[in-house]
Amino acid sequence: MIKLQNQTAFIVILAAFILACKTKSLTQSINEHASKATTNFQIRKTYRFNKNQILLTNNFGGARLNSISQENDSTFNIEIAPENEPINPSPWYAFKVWSAQQKNLYVNLNYKGTSHRYNPKYRYQHQPWKDLADVKINQNKKQASFKLSANNDTILVAAQELLSASDNYHWEDSLVRLPQVKKQKIGESILGKPINAINIGNQSKKLIVVLSRQHPPEVTGYMAMQEFIRTVTANTELGKSFRMKFELLLIPVINPDGVDEGNWRHNVAGVDLNRDWENFAQPETRAVKDYLLKKITQQNAKVYFGIDFHSTYYDVFYTNEDQPQNKTNLPGFTRKWLHAFSESIPGFKPNIKPSPNGGNVSKSWMGRVLHAEALTYEVGDDTPRTLLKLKGKVAAEKMMELLLATENK
Ligand SMILES: [Zn+2]
Repeated sequence: MIKLQNQTAFIVILAAFILACKTKSLTQSINEHASKATTNFQIRKTYRFNKNQILLTNNFGGARLNSISQENDSTFNIEIAPENEPINPSPWYAFKVWSAQQKNLYVNLNYKGTSHRYNPKYRYQHQPWKDLADVKINQNKKQASFKLSANNDTILVAAQELLSASDNYHWEDSLVRLPQVKKQKIGESILGKPINAINIGNQSKKLIVVLSRQHPPEVTGYMAMQEFIRTVTANTELGKSFRMKFELLLIPVINPDGVDEGNWRHNVAGVDLNRDWENFAQPETRAVKDYLLKKITQQNAKVYFGIDFHSTYYDVFYTNEDQPQNKTNLPGFTRKWLHAFSESIPGFKPNIKPSPNGGNVSKSWMGRVLHAEALTYEVGDDTPRTLLKLKGKVAAEKMMELLLATENK
């Protein structure tokens, strides 16, 4: 009995020791990582006004609010600044507002170094997102002004629907509950956040690659990707046949730090990840590259098709030029897919922009190194959300149909 107690005590002490070591190393690792970050971080805090009657905060994943000054009882000037410069004009912002009493608040968003781009969306807790009406843009487009009807139900205001890294991890977990879906951590961001790959379908020599969210504010691309994946994982005959023959590798958020820091474009080293597919100087892009190359070697597989989901002002498909020197594992597939896809959406005239595959973006690397048919799918910022979902769904259906047709030849 005494021996058993001793053993139990020993196990408890050992477990506590292991846990302590683990906790210590995790903290150390985050500190080590954070020292590699070179961008400006916003100060995370809750700003209190009117004797704590009005609160504004950026203390949550995906927020971006650099400073606030109060102009009068109900008017607030908010500064929105990028993580570093130079940077593309995609001024992301997100913050929460709370008022003890029902009160109209007047907000001026001031963009540092760029112009207004995203019309504000807002939601009260557990309510759907809505577009904010009556937003006034000043003459040089450096300021957007609007009214918020604040009360003690917190309002979240953001440039697009807020989908943080943790929202993504929850979504990944929901996917893993489906048949033939597995999740694997393939690396870490600079701040130590997991970068995960989702495997869909049976292990196969025929691979499809889907990438997303290298650029944090590009939420419409991410949402179209989610619908694409929902269609691929669905309990349909098409989905089941596809998953029997092909394996899809999805990396849903390549830049989790950028997403959670509310960055306009870069990772926390201030680098545009979709210009790092030649040097692979960043841990985020390196993780994806190493994972894909290892998978290809291990399974003696080929990548047939790759899509990287992004967003811009309107829908664009950046393809690799269809040329003899670019011979891919499935020649002509992108062209056939774009044709079938656009034919199935009434009034959809795809804006296709081919370019040589020598660049430092993911679609070029997938074409040049993996010999995949590959493209960047830019989804319009303001694409109506029902149309965006339809596009994601049809894009997946046509891809599966066409790939299965090549099987039956
Ligand atoms: Zn992009």
